[in-house]
Amino acid sequence: METLHAERLWTPGGWRIDAGFTHDAGRIVECTGAQPSEGAAWVVPGIANLHSHAFQRAMAGLAERQTHPQDSFWTWRETMYRFAARFDPDTLQAVAAQLYAEMLEAGYTTVCEFHYLHHSPDGRPYTDASAMSHALIAAARETGIRLTLLPVMYMTGGFDGRPLTDRQKRFGHGVDAYLRLFDMLRGEENDTLRVGVALHSLRAVPPDAMRAVLAQLPAETPVHIHIAEQLPEVVDCQALRNARPVEWLLGNAKVDRNWTLVHATHLDAAEIRGIANSGATVAICPTTEANLGDGLFPLRAFLEAGGSWGIGSDSHVSVSPVEELRWLEYGQRLVTHHRNVSVGTATTSAGESMLHDTMASADPSTGQAIGCFYEGACADWLVLDRDAPQFIGATTDDAIDRWLFAGNAPHIREVHVAGKQTVHEGRHRDREAIFTRFKAAMHTLLA
Ligand SMILES: [Zn+2]
Repeated sequence: METLHAERLWTPGGWRIDAGFTHDAGRIVECTGAQPSEGAAWVVPGIANLHSHAFQRAMAGLAERQTHPQDSFWTWRETMYRFAARFDPDTLQAVAAQLYAEMLEAGYTTVCEFHYLHHSPDGRPYTDASAMSHALIAAARETGIRLTLLPVMYMTGGFDGRPLTDRQKRFGHGVDAYLRLFDMLRGEENDTLRVGVALHSLRAVPPDAMRAVLAQLPAETPVHIHIAEQLPEVVDCQALRNARPVEWLLGNAKVDRNWTLVHATHLDAAEIRGIANSGATVAICPTTEANLGDGLFPLRAFLEAGGSWGIGSDSHVSVSPVEELRWLEYGQRLVTHHRNVSVGTATTSAGESMLHDTMASADPSTGQAIGCFYEGACADWLVLDRDAPQFIGATTDDAIDRWLFAGNAPHIREVHVAGKQTVHEGRHRDREAIFTRFKAAMHTLLA
Protein backbone atom coordinates (compact mmCIF):
# COMPACT_ATOMS: atom_id res chain seq x y z
CA MET A 1 0.00 0.00 0.00
CA GLU A 2 1.39 3.40 -0.98
CA THR A 3 0.02 6.93 -0.62
CA LEU A 4 0.29 9.64 -3.26
CA HIS A 5 0.31 13.22 -1.98
CA ALA A 6 -0.46 15.88 -4.56
CA GLU A 7 -0.40 19.64 -4.19
CA ARG A 8 -2.90 19.71 -7.09
CA LEU A 9 -4.94 16.68 -8.15
CA TRP A 10 -7.05 16.84 -11.32
CA THR A 11 -10.69 15.72 -10.98
CA PRO A 12 -13.71 16.08 -13.30
CA GLY A 13 -14.59 19.26 -11.37
CA GLY A 14 -11.12 20.81 -11.74
CA TRP A 15 -8.06 20.90 -9.48
CA ARG A 16 -8.28 19.77 -5.86
CA ILE A 17 -5.64 21.19 -3.56
CA ASP A 18 -3.68 18.97 -1.16
CA ALA A 19 -5.39 15.78 -2.19
CA GLY A 20 -4.22 12.27 -2.96
CA PHE A 21 -4.98 8.58 -2.74
CA THR A 22 -3.66 5.31 -1.44
CA HIS A 23 -3.18 2.49 -3.92
CA ASP A 24 -2.41 -1.18 -3.73
CA ALA A 25 -1.87 -3.85 -6.39
CA GLY A 26 -2.51 -1.33 -9.17
CA ARG A 27 -5.85 -0.01 -7.87
CA ILE A 28 -6.87 3.04 -5.87
CA VAL A 29 -7.95 1.94 -2.41
CA GLU A 30 -8.93 5.23 -0.86
CA CYS A 31 -9.05 8.90 -1.86
CA THR A 32 -7.56 11.06 0.87
CA GLY A 33 -6.46 14.54 1.81
CA ALA A 34 -2.72 15.18 1.52
CA GLN A 35 -0.17 16.87 3.70
CA PRO A 36 0.34 20.45 2.39
CA SER A 37 3.80 20.56 0.84
CA GLU A 38 5.50 23.07 -1.45
CA GLY A 39 7.32 20.29 -3.33
CA ALA A 40 4.32 18.03 -3.87
CA ALA A 41 3.30 17.15 -7.39
CA TRP A 42 0.65 18.27 -9.86
CA VAL A 43 -1.11 15.05 -10.76
CA VAL A 44 -3.54 14.27 -13.59
CA PRO A 45 -5.03 10.92 -14.66
CA GLY A 46 -3.24 9.17 -17.53
CA ILE A 47 -4.68 9.79 -20.98
CA ALA A 48 -6.32 7.06 -23.08
CA ASN A 49 -5.28 6.70 -26.70
CA LEU A 50 -8.45 5.34 -28.30
CA HIS A 51 -7.05 4.40 -31.69
CA SER A 52 -3.70 2.91 -32.72
CA HIS A 53 -2.28 0.81 -35.54
CA ALA A 54 1.14 0.18 -34.00
CA PHE A 55 2.91 -0.97 -37.17
CA GLN A 56 2.19 2.37 -38.87
CA ARG A 57 4.65 4.04 -36.48
CA ALA A 58 7.39 2.63 -38.74
CA MET A 59 6.11 4.49 -41.82
CA ALA A 60 5.50 7.90 -40.21
CA GLY A 61 7.00 10.47 -42.58
CA LEU A 62 7.40 8.01 -45.46
CA ALA A 63 4.26 8.90 -47.41
CA GLU A 64 4.75 12.65 -47.82
CA ARG A 65 6.11 12.62 -51.37
CA GLN A 66 3.60 13.13 -54.16
CA THR A 67 2.83 9.95 -56.12
CA HIS A 68 -0.10 11.44 -58.06
CA PRO A 69 -1.46 14.98 -58.45
CA GLN A 70 -4.65 13.79 -56.74
CA ASP A 71 -2.92 12.05 -53.80
CA SER A 72 -5.41 11.04 -51.13
CA PHE A 73 -6.18 8.54 -48.41
CA TRP A 74 -6.49 5.91 -51.15
CA THR A 75 -2.98 6.45 -52.57
CA TRP A 76 -1.59 6.57 -49.00
CA ARG A 77 -3.29 3.23 -48.38
CA GLU A 78 -1.26 1.64 -51.20
CA THR A 79 1.98 2.75 -49.49
CA MET A 80 0.64 1.44 -46.17
CA TYR A 81 -0.20 -1.97 -47.69
CA ARG A 82 3.28 -2.31 -49.17
CA PHE A 83 4.76 -1.53 -45.76
CA ALA A 84 2.37 -3.79 -43.84
CA ALA A 85 3.52 -6.76 -45.95
CA ARG A 86 7.03 -6.60 -44.41
CA PHE A 87 6.15 -7.20 -40.76
CA ASP A 88 6.59 -10.40 -38.76
CA PRO A 89 5.97 -10.87 -35.03
CA ASP A 90 9.50 -9.78 -34.04
CA THR A 91 9.53 -6.55 -36.05
CA LEU A 92 5.99 -5.78 -34.91
CA GLN A 93 6.97 -6.16 -31.25
CA ALA A 94 10.06 -3.99 -31.72
CA VAL A 95 8.10 -1.18 -33.42
CA ALA A 96 5.19 -1.43 -30.98
CA ALA A 97 7.54 -1.26 -27.97
CA GLN A 98 9.17 1.91 -29.33
CA LEU A 99 5.74 3.39 -29.98
CA TYR A 100 4.36 2.48 -26.56
CA ALA A 101 7.43 3.90 -24.80
CA GLU A 102 6.91 7.14 -26.77
CA MET A 103 3.23 7.12 -25.83
CA LEU A 104 4.04 6.77 -22.13
CA GLU A 105 6.57 9.61 -22.27
CA ALA A 106 3.87 11.74 -23.94
CA GLY A 107 1.22 10.96 -21.30
CA TYR A 108 -0.82 8.16 -22.85
CA THR A 109 -1.19 5.41 -20.23
CA THR A 110 -3.72 3.23 -22.11
CA VAL A 111 -3.78 2.30 -25.78
CA CYS A 112 -6.59 0.75 -27.82
CA GLU A 113 -4.81 -1.30 -30.45
CA PHE A 114 -6.97 -1.75 -33.57
CA HIS A 115 -5.09 -4.77 -34.81
CA TYR A 116 -5.59 -6.25 -38.29
CA LEU A 117 -2.10 -7.52 -39.21
CA HIS A 118 -3.02 -11.08 -38.21
CA HIS A 119 -1.45 -13.56 -40.64
CA SER A 120 1.80 -14.09 -42.52
CA PRO A 121 2.31 -11.89 -45.60
CA ASP A 122 0.91 -14.53 -47.99
CA GLY A 123 -2.30 -14.68 -45.97
CA ARG A 124 -1.69 -18.01 -44.24
CA PRO A 125 -2.11 -18.04 -40.46
CA TYR A 126 1.07 -18.31 -38.43
CA THR A 127 1.59 -21.63 -36.60
CA ASP A 128 0.41 -19.75 -33.54
CA ALA A 129 -2.60 -18.04 -35.15
CA SER A 130 -2.35 -15.24 -32.58
CA ALA A 131 1.41 -14.63 -32.95
CA MET A 132 0.93 -11.02 -34.07
CA SER A 133 -1.55 -10.31 -31.27
CA HIS A 134 0.96 -11.76 -28.82
CA ALA A 135 3.67 -9.46 -30.20
CA LEU A 136 1.49 -6.47 -29.25
CA ILE A 137 0.65 -7.91 -25.84
CA ALA A 138 4.36 -8.49 -25.20
CA ALA A 139 5.23 -4.92 -26.27
CA ALA A 140 2.60 -3.54 -23.91
CA ARG A 141 3.80 -5.73 -21.04
CA GLU A 142 7.46 -4.81 -21.45
CA THR A 143 6.79 -1.07 -21.70
CA GLY A 144 4.14 -1.04 -18.97
CA ILE A 145 1.34 0.59 -20.96
CA ARG A 146 -2.24 -0.52 -20.32
CA LEU A 147 -3.67 -2.26 -23.41
CA THR A 148 -7.13 -2.75 -24.83
CA LEU A 149 -6.47 -5.15 -27.68
CA LEU A 150 -9.06 -5.02 -30.46
CA PRO A 151 -8.49 -7.86 -32.93
CA VAL A 152 -10.01 -6.70 -36.19
CA MET A 153 -12.68 -8.51 -38.18
CA TYR A 154 -11.88 -7.96 -41.88
CA MET A 155 -13.58 -10.00 -44.60
CA THR A 156 -14.23 -8.10 -47.82
CA GLY A 157 -12.57 -5.46 -49.97
CA GLY A 158 -15.63 -3.26 -50.47
CA PHE A 159 -19.36 -2.74 -49.90
CA ASP A 160 -20.06 -4.96 -52.94
CA GLY A 161 -18.54 -7.93 -51.08
CA ARG A 162 -15.52 -8.26 -53.37
CA PRO A 163 -12.84 -10.61 -52.00
CA LEU A 164 -9.72 -9.31 -50.26
CA THR A 165 -6.83 -8.43 -52.56
CA ASP A 166 -3.54 -10.31 -52.15
CA ARG A 167 -2.20 -7.46 -50.00
CA GLN A 168 -5.30 -7.56 -47.75
CA LYS A 169 -5.22 -11.34 -47.25
CA ARG A 170 -3.16 -11.19 -44.10
CA PHE A 171 -5.95 -9.17 -42.45
CA GLY A 172 -8.79 -11.64 -43.06
CA HIS A 173 -10.84 -14.10 -40.99
CA GLY A 174 -14.11 -15.97 -41.39
CA VAL A 175 -16.59 -15.51 -38.55
CA ASP A 176 -15.69 -18.77 -36.76
CA ALA A 177 -11.93 -18.26 -36.98
CA TYR A 178 -12.37 -14.69 -35.78
CA LEU A 179 -14.43 -15.73 -32.76
CA ARG A 180 -11.84 -18.40 -31.89
CA LEU A 181 -9.13 -15.72 -31.88
CA PHE A 182 -11.28 -13.40 -29.77
CA ASP A 183 -12.08 -16.15 -27.22
CA MET A 184 -8.47 -17.23 -26.99
CA LEU A 185 -7.24 -13.67 -26.40
CA ARG A 186 -9.99 -13.02 -23.89
CA GLY A 187 -8.65 -15.91 -21.84
CA GLU A 188 -5.45 -13.88 -21.40
CA GLU A 189 -7.09 -10.79 -19.93
CA ASN A 190 -5.58 -9.43 -16.74
CA ASP A 191 -5.56 -6.19 -14.77
CA THR A 192 -3.72 -4.26 -17.54
CA LEU A 193 -5.04 -6.16 -20.59
CA ARG A 194 -8.60 -6.02 -21.85
CA VAL A 195 -9.78 -7.57 -25.11
CA GLY A 196 -12.54 -6.08 -27.22
CA VAL A 197 -13.72 -6.32 -30.80
CA ALA A 198 -13.00 -4.19 -33.84
CA LEU A 199 -15.05 -4.29 -37.02
CA HIS A 200 -12.65 -2.87 -39.58
CA SER A 201 -15.37 -0.87 -41.36
CA LEU A 202 -18.76 -1.40 -42.95
CA ARG A 203 -17.06 -1.98 -46.29
CA ALA A 204 -14.92 -4.81 -44.83
CA VAL A 205 -17.56 -6.62 -42.75
CA PRO A 206 -20.75 -7.89 -44.43
CA PRO A 207 -23.98 -7.31 -42.45
CA ASP A 208 -24.55 -11.01 -41.66
CA ALA A 209 -21.02 -11.44 -40.34
CA MET A 210 -21.37 -8.30 -38.22
CA ARG A 211 -24.56 -9.63 -36.64
CA ALA A 212 -23.03 -13.08 -36.07
CA VAL A 213 -20.02 -11.63 -34.22
CA LEU A 214 -22.00 -9.11 -32.17
CA ALA A 215 -24.44 -11.84 -31.08
CA GLN A 216 -21.58 -13.79 -29.46
CA LEU A 217 -20.05 -11.00 -27.39
CA PRO A 218 -20.08 -10.99 -23.58
CA ALA A 219 -21.81 -7.97 -22.01
CA GLU A 220 -19.76 -4.75 -21.86
CA THR A 221 -17.31 -5.83 -24.56
CA PRO A 222 -15.79 -2.71 -26.17
CA VAL A 223 -16.65 -2.58 -29.89
CA HIS A 224 -14.71 -0.24 -32.17
CA ILE A 225 -15.29 0.47 -35.87
CA HIS A 226 -13.81 2.81 -38.50
CA ILE A 227 -16.69 4.77 -39.94
CA ALA A 228 -17.34 7.63 -42.37
CA GLU A 229 -13.67 8.59 -42.60
CA GLN A 230 -13.75 9.30 -46.32
CA LEU A 231 -16.43 10.71 -48.63
CA PRO A 232 -16.16 7.85 -51.20
CA GLU A 233 -17.06 5.49 -48.35
CA VAL A 234 -20.23 7.51 -47.72
CA VAL A 235 -21.12 7.47 -51.43
CA ASP A 236 -20.55 3.68 -51.74
CA CYS A 237 -22.58 2.98 -48.61
CA GLN A 238 -25.48 5.06 -49.92
CA ALA A 239 -25.33 3.27 -53.27
CA LEU A 240 -25.19 -0.28 -51.87
CA ARG A 241 -26.94 -0.05 -48.50
CA ASN A 242 -29.23 2.84 -49.24
CA ALA A 243 -28.04 4.79 -46.18
CA ARG A 244 -25.09 6.83 -44.98
CA PRO A 245 -22.57 4.77 -42.93
CA VAL A 246 -23.48 6.03 -39.46
CA GLU A 247 -27.18 6.05 -40.37
CA TRP A 248 -26.89 2.39 -41.48
CA LEU A 249 -24.94 1.37 -38.37
CA LEU A 250 -27.38 3.00 -35.96
CA GLY A 251 -30.25 1.27 -37.76
CA ASN A 252 -28.64 -2.17 -37.86
CA ALA A 253 -26.70 -2.60 -34.62
CA LYS A 254 -27.47 -1.89 -30.98
CA VAL A 255 -24.93 0.91 -30.68
CA ASP A 256 -24.48 1.95 -27.04
CA ARG A 257 -21.83 3.27 -24.66
CA ASN A 258 -19.62 0.21 -25.27
CA TRP A 259 -19.14 1.35 -28.86
CA THR A 260 -16.43 3.61 -30.24
CA LEU A 261 -16.89 5.11 -33.70
CA VAL A 262 -13.45 5.92 -35.06
CA HIS A 263 -13.25 9.11 -37.16
CA ALA A 264 -17.01 9.50 -37.88
CA THR A 265 -15.87 12.53 -39.86
CA HIS A 266 -18.69 12.84 -42.38
CA LEU A 267 -22.00 13.20 -40.53
CA ASP A 268 -25.32 14.83 -41.22
CA ALA A 269 -27.39 16.45 -38.46
CA ALA A 270 -29.46 13.31 -37.77
CA GLU A 271 -26.31 11.18 -37.49
CA ILE A 272 -24.75 13.67 -35.06
CA ARG A 273 -27.82 13.43 -32.82
CA GLY A 274 -27.97 9.66 -33.29
CA ILE A 275 -24.42 9.05 -32.09
CA ALA A 276 -24.83 11.45 -29.17
CA ASN A 277 -28.08 9.77 -28.09
CA SER A 278 -26.59 6.27 -28.38
CA GLY A 279 -23.92 7.05 -25.75
CA ALA A 280 -21.16 5.81 -28.08
CA THR A 281 -17.77 7.55 -28.09
CA VAL A 282 -16.28 9.10 -31.22
CA ALA A 283 -12.51 8.57 -31.44
CA ILE A 284 -11.18 11.67 -33.20
CA CYS A 285 -7.63 11.44 -34.56
CA PRO A 286 -6.86 15.04 -35.55
CA THR A 287 -3.24 14.72 -36.71
CA THR A 288 -3.90 11.58 -38.76
CA GLU A 289 -7.16 12.92 -40.16
CA ALA A 290 -5.28 16.06 -41.23
CA ASN A 291 -2.36 14.04 -42.58
CA LEU A 292 -4.69 11.86 -44.69
CA GLY A 293 -6.95 14.69 -45.82
CA ASP A 294 -10.03 13.04 -44.32
CA GLY A 295 -12.03 16.11 -43.36
CA LEU A 296 -12.95 17.93 -40.17
CA PHE A 297 -15.11 16.45 -37.44
CA PRO A 298 -18.21 18.61 -36.68
CA LEU A 299 -17.17 19.10 -33.04
CA ARG A 300 -19.38 22.04 -32.10
CA ALA A 301 -22.63 20.45 -33.29
CA PHE A 302 -21.62 17.17 -31.65
CA LEU A 303 -20.92 18.88 -28.30
CA GLU A 304 -24.26 20.70 -28.48
CA ALA A 305 -25.96 17.32 -29.00
CA GLY A 306 -24.22 16.05 -25.83
CA GLY A 307 -21.83 13.70 -27.66
CA SER A 308 -18.95 11.81 -26.06
CA TRP A 309 -15.49 11.85 -27.64
CA GLY A 310 -11.82 11.01 -27.10
CA ILE A 311 -8.60 11.08 -29.10
CA GLY A 312 -6.40 8.60 -30.92
CA SER A 313 -2.98 8.83 -32.54
CA ASP A 314 -4.01 6.28 -35.23
CA SER A 315 -1.15 6.35 -37.80
CA HIS A 316 1.31 7.93 -35.32
CA VAL A 317 2.48 10.83 -37.47
CA SER A 318 2.32 12.41 -34.01
CA VAL A 319 2.48 10.66 -30.64
CA SER A 320 1.27 13.43 -28.37
CA PRO A 321 -2.06 13.96 -26.66
CA VAL A 322 -1.18 17.66 -26.43
CA GLU A 323 -0.88 17.90 -30.20
CA GLU A 324 -4.08 15.90 -30.85
CA LEU A 325 -6.11 18.12 -28.51
CA ARG A 326 -4.54 21.32 -29.72
CA TRP A 327 -5.21 20.48 -33.38
CA LEU A 328 -8.73 19.40 -32.60
CA GLU A 329 -9.41 22.89 -31.27
CA TYR A 330 -7.32 24.65 -33.94
CA GLY A 331 -9.10 22.89 -36.83
CA GLN A 332 -12.39 24.22 -35.49
CA ARG A 333 -10.97 27.74 -35.10
CA LEU A 334 -9.70 27.74 -38.68
CA VAL A 335 -13.08 26.92 -40.20
CA THR A 336 -15.40 28.75 -37.79
CA HIS A 337 -13.28 31.91 -37.26
CA HIS A 338 -14.06 31.59 -33.55
CA ARG A 339 -11.91 30.62 -30.56
CA ASN A 340 -12.37 28.18 -27.67
CA VAL A 341 -14.83 26.11 -29.71
CA SER A 342 -14.44 22.93 -27.63
CA VAL A 343 -15.73 24.55 -24.44
CA GLY A 344 -18.59 22.57 -22.92
CA THR A 345 -20.76 23.18 -19.88
CA ALA A 346 -18.30 22.33 -17.07
CA THR A 347 -15.78 25.18 -17.51
CA THR A 348 -14.97 28.11 -19.81
CA SER A 349 -11.41 26.85 -20.40
CA ALA A 350 -10.82 25.10 -23.74
CA GLY A 351 -8.02 22.96 -22.29
CA GLU A 352 -10.01 21.89 -19.24
CA SER A 353 -13.06 21.14 -21.39
CA MET A 354 -11.07 18.89 -23.70
CA LEU A 355 -9.33 17.14 -20.79
CA HIS A 356 -12.69 16.63 -19.10
CA ASP A 357 -14.27 15.07 -22.21
CA THR A 358 -11.23 12.91 -22.94
CA MET A 359 -11.24 11.54 -19.40
CA ALA A 360 -15.00 10.91 -19.40
CA SER A 361 -14.87 8.68 -22.49
CA ALA A 362 -11.79 6.71 -21.40
CA ASP A 363 -13.58 4.06 -19.34
CA PRO A 364 -16.42 3.11 -21.72
CA SER A 365 -14.21 3.19 -24.81
CA THR A 366 -11.36 1.11 -23.39
CA GLY A 367 -13.42 -1.13 -21.10
CA GLN A 368 -11.06 -0.30 -18.22
CA ALA A 369 -11.65 1.63 -14.97
CA ILE A 370 -9.61 4.67 -15.98
CA GLY A 371 -9.92 8.42 -16.54
CA CYS A 372 -10.70 9.51 -13.01
CA PHE A 373 -9.37 8.92 -9.50
CA TYR A 374 -11.94 7.04 -7.42
CA GLU A 375 -11.91 4.03 -5.12
CA GLY A 376 -11.47 0.90 -7.20
CA ALA A 377 -10.14 2.77 -10.26
CA CYS A 378 -6.85 1.84 -11.90
CA ALA A 379 -3.92 3.71 -10.35
CA ASP A 380 -2.68 5.41 -13.54
CA TRP A 381 -1.37 8.96 -13.26
CA LEU A 382 0.93 11.61 -14.71
CA VAL A 383 3.06 14.08 -12.78
CA LEU A 384 3.34 17.35 -14.70
CA ASP A 385 6.70 19.10 -14.78
CA ARG A 386 5.57 22.05 -12.67
CA ASP A 387 9.04 23.62 -12.92
CA ALA A 388 8.87 23.95 -16.73
CA PRO A 389 8.90 27.55 -18.08
CA GLN A 390 5.30 27.11 -19.30
CA PHE A 391 4.07 26.66 -15.73
CA ILE A 392 5.81 29.55 -13.96
CA GLY A 393 3.14 31.37 -11.97
CA ALA A 394 0.40 28.97 -13.14
CA THR A 395 -2.80 29.18 -11.14
CA THR A 396 -5.47 26.49 -10.87
CA ASP A 397 -7.41 28.44 -13.53
CA ASP A 398 -4.75 28.37 -16.23
CA ALA A 399 -2.46 25.37 -15.57
CA ILE A 400 -4.25 22.97 -17.95
CA ASP A 401 -4.44 25.57 -20.75
CA ARG A 402 -0.72 26.27 -20.33
CA TRP A 403 -0.03 22.53 -20.55
CA LEU A 404 -2.11 22.03 -23.72
CA PHE A 405 -1.52 25.32 -25.56
CA ALA A 406 2.03 26.47 -24.76
CA GLY A 407 5.22 25.10 -26.28
CA ASN A 408 6.11 21.77 -27.85
CA ALA A 409 7.27 19.55 -25.00
CA PRO A 410 5.08 17.07 -23.11
CA HIS A 411 5.95 18.63 -19.72
CA ILE A 412 5.48 15.27 -18.04
CA ARG A 413 7.96 14.29 -15.36
CA GLU A 414 6.60 10.93 -14.23
CA VAL A 415 4.15 8.37 -15.58
CA HIS A 416 2.65 5.59 -13.46
CA VAL A 417 0.47 2.73 -14.73
CA ALA A 418 -1.20 0.29 -12.33
CA GLY A 419 0.85 1.92 -9.56
CA LYS A 420 4.19 1.21 -11.31
CA GLN A 421 6.43 4.00 -12.51
CA THR A 422 7.32 3.70 -16.22
CA VAL A 423 8.70 7.20 -16.90
CA HIS A 424 11.25 9.04 -14.72
CA GLU A 425 12.26 12.65 -15.47
CA GLY A 426 10.46 12.40 -18.82
CA ARG A 427 12.28 9.26 -19.98
CA HIS A 428 10.91 5.74 -20.26
CA ARG A 429 12.72 3.34 -17.90
CA ASP A 430 13.93 1.16 -20.84
CA ARG A 431 14.25 3.84 -23.48
CA GLU A 432 17.75 2.85 -24.71
CA ALA A 433 17.19 -0.91 -25.02
CA ILE A 434 13.84 -0.41 -26.75
CA PHE A 435 15.34 2.09 -29.18
CA THR A 436 18.28 -0.21 -30.02
CA ARG A 437 15.89 -3.02 -30.98
CA PHE A 438 13.63 -0.61 -32.89
CA LYS A 439 16.61 0.63 -34.89
CA ALA A 440 17.50 -2.92 -35.94
CA ALA A 441 13.87 -3.65 -36.84
CA MET A 442 13.66 -0.48 -38.95
CA HIS A 443 16.77 -1.47 -40.91
CA THR A 444 15.13 -4.85 -41.58
CA LEU A 445 11.81 -3.27 -42.61
CA LEU A 446 13.45 -0.70 -44.87
CA ALA A 447 15.99 -3.09 -46.47
ZN1 LIG B 1 -7.53 3.44 -38.05
